[in-house]
Amino acid sequence: MKIRVLGSHGSDMLVKGSTGINHCRSVGFLVNDELMVDAGTLASALTLEQQQRVKHILLSHLHLDHIKDIPPLVDNLSGLVDHQVVVASLPSVVQGLQEHIFNDRVFPNFFNLQGAGYSILRAQGLEVRKEIRLPGGISVTPVLVNHTVETVGFVIRGDSVAWIYSGDTHVTEEIWQIAAKTPNLKGIFIEVSFPDSMMDMAIRSKHLTPTLLAQEFRKIGKPNLPLFVYHMKPIVREAILQEIAQLDIETITVLEEGQEIEL
Ligand SMILES: [Zn+2]
Ligand SMILES: [Zn+2]
Repeated sequence: MKIRVLGSHGSDMLVKGSTGINHCRSVGFLVNDELMVDAGTLASALTLEQQQRVKHILLSHLHLDHIKDIPPLVDNLSGLVDHQVVVASLPSVVQGLQEHIFNDRVFPNFFNLQGAGYSILRAQGLEVRKEIRLPGGISVTPVLVNHTVETVGFVIRGDSVAWIYSGDTHVTEEIWQIAAKTPNLKGIFIEVSFPDSMMDMAIRSKHLTPTLLAQEFRKIGKPNLPLFVYHMKPIVREAILQEIAQLDIETITVLEEGQEIEL
């Protein structure tokens, strides 16, 4: 399974770091050119041809840094493609998207465009712990995690490979228990948003710091499992990177925009 990192941060910013200028972008991962896992970055990082191939968008939750590039996508594709783009998440998330964004005030309701013949967006409500099959031989199971709003992580399975995406989360249990039992698990994506010096903020906003990341990763009991880190807040990126470098986890990779991972 090919995963392309369109955005690996918890916000958008140009950051001058030790290795040059990094263009930090909000969370978005493109899987096998057709499936998005979160959509904080989508249209702004893809050519029109690439955008036309996106058929499914999985949303972990409703926070803006995970949804904000859906409006430009449908604006670009409307009238150009004859397929629907399916937006799949918990019912509260797909309903919230229509109430707060696609509500004919902030943005046209592309889930229900009057007179268009068809609507480019189609909502798909997911049930926790219930696997769905997507075109392209991919199956997805949502699992509740622990964030300030209702949020799921995802177990994503292909032919002989599985990986897990944490969504935004604080300390949690169930998704790690599932990770421990998932066959052919080739990687786990876990969020880190703040450095340990901002632990209070991490607790209040229900995110992880590097120390909490290590604690959560150990719960899986698979020390050789490749661990991919994302969702750093750009303003504290350097501090987080320094703390991650001190962790005793050999399999860790901090994801960067433009990176491609083959699992
Ligand atoms: Zn977020
Ligand atoms: Zn969030």
